[in-house]
Amino acid sequence: MHEFGVAASVLDAVEARAAGRPVSALRLHVGALHRLDRAVFDDAFSMVADGGVAEGAVVEVVEIAVAVRCRGCASTTTADELVVACGTCGAHDLELLTGDELVLESITVSTRTEQEVG
Ligand SMILES: [Zn+2]
Repeated sequence: MHEFGVAASVLDAVEARAAGRPVSALRLHVGALHRLDRAVFDDAFSMVADGGVAEGAVVEVVEIAVAVRCRGCASTTTADELVVACGTCGAHDLELLTGDELVLESITVSTRTEQEVG
């Protein structure tokens, strides 16, 4: 499933940045073209993160809209899905500006060193 692949690659990035420290929260920038299903992604991430540094971390997803620039008239068209024609002149010769991002924007490292005794 798409969301599991995304969750696994996000976790790789989180673990690389966390360097062993516990992560309490993370923020992602995800382009609308990924059509990420939040509910499925949350389940997938908690599954792949289970037992690791990001277990239980709060995940914030910032969705990035799709933006394209027309090579014909140079105007920019934005939408929350794939744009196939320029909104100004209708041309199909478009350059994707944003919308396919998958970026780990930030992580919050837990500074608490004591372990909770359950
Ligand atoms: Zn155009």
